[in-house]
Amino acid sequence: ALPVYGAPGTSKERTFIAVKPDGVQRNLVGEIISRFERRGYKLVGLKLLVPPVELAKEHYADLSSKPFFAGLVDYMTNGRAPVVGMVWEGPSVIKQGRIMLGATDPKNSGTGTIRGDFCLSIGRNIVHGSDSAESAEKEISLWFGGKGEVVNWTSNNEEWVISEN
Ligand code: UDP
Ligand code: MG
Repeated sequence: ALPVYGAPGTSKERTFIAVKPDGVQRNLVGEIISRFERRGYKLVGLKLLVPPVELAKEHYADLSSKPFFAGLVDYMTNGRAPVVGMVWEGPSVIKQGRIMLGATDPKNSGTGTIRGDFCLSIGRNIVHGSDSAESAEKEISLWFGGKGEVVNWTSNNEEWVISEN
């Protein structure tokens, strides 16, 4: 059974968001964190790392047969810049996180979305976000699987941000 924290459909739903190496290189980490903070979402996991090749391959396993897979894994893991991995919590954060990111191909991303405001090219689209509850569960355990890496904490703002009545 899913734990109370992180359960999709609850106010504690969680998603995995990452700033990819191009986003770190372009100094957009603060901008991206800020957008999720200002929306009202709660940061419950955060790390900076050059992901091991095996982690990147597992993360993108569903794309392993695509022609761009090798280049994608190299871009994520070659160490020219690290990745910022995050777990964000709040109502509908999986779906809303994807909306905040914008379409995969920045040529189709709306203005006002992260990709629509900062990107031009599908191979340099600066952010990742889980695309479903299943992906969120897989990706959070993959990137934040260690004990205590995701932190349960109570925001003193919560009653001013979340009320379903
Ligand atoms: N990607 C790419 N070329 C493509 C499709 C995808 O380089 O034709 C990269 C791009 O960085 C994208 C990632 O592969 O963000 C994962 O693809 P997916 O379809 O899962 O898009 P996302 O979930 O990131 O929007
Ligand atoms: Mg995806």
